[in-house]
Amino acid sequence: MSRSVFVINAGSSSLKYQLVDVDSGDALASGLIERIGETTGVATHEVPGQPDIVEQRVISDHEHAFGWVLRQLDAHGPDLDAVQLLGIGHRVVQGGARFDRAVLIDDDVVQQIDDLAPLAPLHNPANLQGIRSALATFPGFPHVAVFDTAFHLTIPPAAHRYAIEGRVAAEHRIRKYGFHGTSHQYVSRRMAELLGKPLEAVNTIVLHLGNGASATAVRGGRSVETSMGMTPLAGLVMGTRSGDIDPGVIFHLHRVAGMSIDEIDTLLNKRSGLLGMTGTGDMRDVQQAADAGIERASEALDIVAHRLRGTVGAYLAHLGRTDAIAFTAGIGENSAPVRAAALAGLESLGIVLDPVRNAGRGERRISADESAIEVWVVPTAEELEIARQVAALVAPPSVE
Ligand code: AMP
Repeated sequence: MSRSVFVINAGSSSLKYQLVDVDSGDALASGLIERIGETTGVATHEVPGQPDIVEQRVISDHEHAFGWVLRQLDAHGPDLDAVQLLGIGHRVVQGGARFDRAVLIDDDVVQQIDDLAPLAPLHNPANLQGIRSALATFPGFPHVAVFDTAFHLTIPPAAHRYAIEGRVAAEHRIRKYGFHGTSHQYVSRRMAELLGKPLEAVNTIVLHLGNGASATAVRGGRSVETSMGMTPLAGLVMGTRSGDIDPGVIFHLHRVAGMSIDEIDTLLNKRSGLLGMTGTGDMRDVQQAADAGIERASEALDIVAHRLRGTVGAYLAHLGRTDAIAFTAGIGENSAPVRAAALAGLESLGIVLDPVRNAGRGERRISADESAIEVWVVPTAEELEIARQVAALVAPPSVE
């Protein structure tokens, strides 16, 4: 009999869900509801082996959205009793310095996620909306919060503190938190399995390159450095975010260019990165444009690769001994040119790609046999990782 967890990722106007079989790792159903609270919403429910359900309808709020999901499950399955629903897993973006692992949600946890909202104003309030609606929709089930930041709380102070006045940092909780934690955790653990070694013995650099992008140095299963910071704006070049930038640019844009703080926030978070440099935030389009000879697209790819190479070099230094580099997420899993460009010229550091393996598909090693550091593509599985963390908390394996 299967055991399942319902995984929820709530945005301010969207709700993404997946019913995960925690033993096989299969998605038993999944869906996405968008434009919640707008004049017309779009809701999709997918069950493997059945035609997708797609409806356009008004969806006034998250509770209403959950009602729609329940009706789809009733009508098209799977039956929640038959798949032994263990609990509900909620992705929460910001867990602050408090949550270093997944926790059962109670009133105190709800309050703390709310208290952390100033650090993640776009995400935590939306995550909380999802939690409150799900508590009303699925009463009687354990609800668990799984934080994007939790995996990174092992990062030592030398790496997570910024060189600013300590009093200001403490008062405003300013430090590096890091994000994409469930992905980095899943991929680094999977990497150890693939190398056939215990997690404690493996040092990995994980490159999560999607629309948002971050790199993490993982020593023996613990995050020791990551490229995102107090917010997801720091680090690598992303679809619409600039990544690292001299903070002085912000003062300049305000004082000299006359932009307001909100305008600068929008510029750096929503209109920079690939989008700002090329006019599209989608890596496939940027690659096509570069192939067609459009110079600003090739330049953007060079900037992406330069930033990645520098990050890999820094993390090799932080880790000391590195066993593997793992590429994951949309770009990391699918773009052979980005992977090749990011690691080009690192042969003297023991990193040699095999072009044929790099051009292949799926989970695989892409380094040459002679490469001292193995390079892999490891598809991420954030929902599965969340589901497993929920199952471990609410239905731990019994000790014989
Ligand atoms: P994610 O946020 O993980 O869904 O990743 C989205 C990014 O992956 C977008 O920039 C896509 O253009 C990119 N992506 C997806 N497939 C490919 C591909 N075959 N080649 C290059 N980029 C891709």
